[in-house]
Amino acid sequence: MKRRRLKKEVYYVFAGLVIFIIALTSLIKHINYTHSYEYKFLKLGYEKAQVEVILNLKDKQLDELLKHKYDKNITSFIKQKYFIFSNLDRYLKYQKENKSTKLKDIVSIVNVHADHEWYDEDAIKDTDTKKGTMMLVNKFYHLKEDYVPENIVDASKTYAYDENSATEETISAFKKMYAKAKSEGLNLIITSSYRTYKDQDRIWNSYAIRESEEWADAYAARPGYSEHQTGLALDIVTYKSTMDNFDETPEAKWLADNAYKYGFILRYPKDKENLTGYDYEPWHYRYVGVENAKKIYKEGITFEEYYAYYVENKD
Ligand SMILES: [Zn+2]
Repeated sequence: MKRRRLKKEVYYVFAGLVIFIIALTSLIKHINYTHSYEYKFLKLGYEKAQVEVILNLKDKQLDELLKHKYDKNITSFIKQKYFIFSNLDRYLKYQKENKSTKLKDIVSIVNVHADHEWYDEDAIKDTDTKKGTMMLVNKFYHLKEDYVPENIVDASKTYAYDENSATEETISAFKKMYAKAKSEGLNLIITSSYRTYKDQDRIWNSYAIRESEEWADAYAARPGYSEHQTGLALDIVTYKSTMDNFDETPEAKWLADNAYKYGFILRYPKDKENLTGYDYEPWHYRYVGVENAKKIYKEGITFEEYYAYYVENKD
């Protein structure tokens, strides 16, 4: 009899212990869950599908995002192809002030700093010349007065009008492109290329004195802000044309379709002035190397957008 009761007691204690362990595990599980990002973002007001998008971010970014109030645009921005997390606040701000602009366009505008005025001192940076053929020079990124590219070589008369030069790599790529165009009955000729800081200073100042500073800004880059100072930019025309009517020539069409195969990109495409700071320039090509040129051509983006997402974002 005593033995049986003891058995029963052992049984109760055991059952109790099992229940306790189950309860404890689920409590721990619950506590752990309340510490999870999923729980925290659901608590903030995001829906399950939105949380799934958010959870693709890195932990550091998730912690940062937890400090933001719920905003339905956040996940829409994260889903954009060229989304850069550190620009999120600027995307949201721009969106609030420009409600009719597409989110995709906002990402591009902010990535290239075009949410600032051109030459805005708050946005201006030194060009990272260590990037070599990928260095960016535009109305926000500038070269110092003493920056002189290495390996500047003259372009011979076959390829250029008088006094043109560029980096050795740029000239050698141009020669290959020239030969291919020639074999198809087309003539390419370099009309402008490497320009020193002083050259650009002279151009901009002559415009400013003749007309006004606004006028000079509209038609010339400020000294230090011209891509021609990199030695990687070529203005290309054909014998029958000037820059003004180059767009109507077969050479312009051929360059637009083929230059990337030789490492060149059309630097200022049509309808992208809001990103590049320049009107369409069918003659201005920039050497970036074949691999990058192919990618830029295929993705159909400006050099500014490419640089922001694939070059600077990876630093
Ligand atoms: Zn040019």
